[in-house]
Amino acid sequence: MIKSEILTHLENIVGKEFASNNQEDLFIYSQDSGASLPRPVDFVVLPKTVEEIQNIVRLANEEKIPIVPMGGGMTLSGLTIPIKGGIVIDLKRMDKILEINEISRYALIEAGVTTGRLTAYLEKHYPNLEVSIPDAPPSATVTGNALIHGSGFLSQKYGNHGDMINGLEVVLPNGEICKLGSCAVSEYWFTRGPIPDLIGLFISSFGTMGIATKLAIKLYPKDNLREIVVGIFSDPKMIPDAISKITHTDIAEDIVFAVSEALFKGYIFLATYITGNSEEDIGSKIKILKRIYRKAKGNYMKVPEGFRNYFLEKPIFISSEADNRSGGGFEYSGNFIPLDKIPEAIEKAIEISKKYDISPSQVSRVIGKGHNIMFAASFSFNRADPNDMENARNALHETNEMILKLGGIIWKPELAGQKLIIEKMDPNYKKLFQAIRVALDPNGIMNPGNWEIT
Ligand SMILES: Cc1cc2nc3c(=O)[nH]c(=O)nc-3n(C[C@H](O)[C@H](O)[C@H](O)COP(=O)(O)OP(=O)(O)OC[C@H]3O[C@@H](n4cnc5c(N)ncnc54)[C@H](O)[C@@H]3O)c2cc1C
Repeated sequence: MIKSEILTHLENIVGKEFASNNQEDLFIYSQDSGASLPRPVDFVVLPKTVEEIQNIVRLANEEKIPIVPMGGGMTLSGLTIPIKGGIVIDLKRMDKILEINEISRYALIEAGVTTGRLTAYLEKHYPNLEVSIPDAPPSATVTGNALIHGSGFLSQKYGNHGDMINGLEVVLPNGEICKLGSCAVSEYWFTRGPIPDLIGLFISSFGTMGIATKLAIKLYPKDNLREIVVGIFSDPKMIPDAISKITHTDIAEDIVFAVSEALFKGYIFLATYITGNSEEDIGSKIKILKRIYRKAKGNYMKVPEGFRNYFLEKPIFISSEADNRSGGGFEYSGNFIPLDKIPEAIEKAIEISKKYDISPSQVSRVIGKGHNIMFAASFSFNRADPNDMENARNALHETNEMILKLGGIIWKPELAGQKLIIEKMDPNYKKLFQAIRVALDPNGIMNPGNWEIT
């Protein structure tokens, strides 16, 4: 079929205003706000229903056209920019909050619901419940973020967002609808088991296994009061001990630590967020943390009142650090690292930033009780200068190599990072992954080029 015929088919499926191959419409989908170079897109569609998605997938199979699911398109690693052209399926019109189960504490939502929308909805209608959101702009989708195994302000307590998924409805690469989790058996989307858990196939696979259309995500009880308690540390080697001590007490909601030449001048800023339902409760937790900071050889720092609200905002301050050179460009190498490797990672990432003449800037988050650290070294650049963008890409790549050498894993890797991971991957893991992929998607239409094992 020629392009104009494909467009007509797409228009028949989603409606004339929601399918396009105009260059002006495609421009924004051919790039993201990270350092990846733009890549061509052939069509964009904005479906409203699951049936429309099924029909798009069937058409893509018949015509062997790649399809790329997109939520907010905010991952920064080019994951929603097609590698082999094709149709970007923008899911933002699928934005219904279908159910809040207050007692069993989960939200059932369509795939296009943004973190901003779910948070605002809960604040208004269920003020005692909250959902863990990333520090990404609120236009990121809950589903896109959970499917890339993101993390947010409740991740220290409850784990990565991928772990908070209770159930999924997906359109498989052959166009069939499949339910995963308790919803495969029951009308309640309250848990993943006890049946074989296949939800993991859809996490961190970047839309290569199917398109999630509905997701149930865990909600958590919300305390009335929240406070930030800051410690300042002069040596990265002090950080694992401080974090071990804090997580041992079980009093933290969230723990983040940051390195910023511009803001903290060589010190490591460690922020523990605590919550409670009375001033006494908060006061006693602050005392415990002050003691821990001292024992871990750090210093407690009172946050100036003017900054307190700024730090307590959700999403937190990372976004303001993002574009610290005011050049409009920012990308970070998010990585998962064991806690004991953090001092080396901090020091080596500083060296890499300096080598590429980028002011060192890192923000990391404790996941679980210190079981994993999401370590992010960010590189800002001037979007109007291709050399500066390339410089940031090179710094990112070198950081990714360093992380893999340390025994960490690159999180939400762009194409070059995916290749680094695949090179290191156990050969039988590769074989299994490839066999599943070919069985599910024999025509290779699902976001091809990603996780490509040759
Ligand atoms: C300033 C800034 C701060 C950030 N801070 C954080 C943070 O604290 N924590 C964090 O986790 N992330 C963070 N991010 C990264 C990113 O923005 C988020 O993870 C974001 O939530 C990704 O969601 P999205 O809807 O934008 O996903 P997208 O970019 O649209 O998609 C991500 C991947 O999932 C696939 N996908 C999307 N929707 C579906 C679907 N329905 N079915 C199948 N596949 C799908 C896409 O094809 C793509 O491969 C930050 C980003 C920025 C810019």
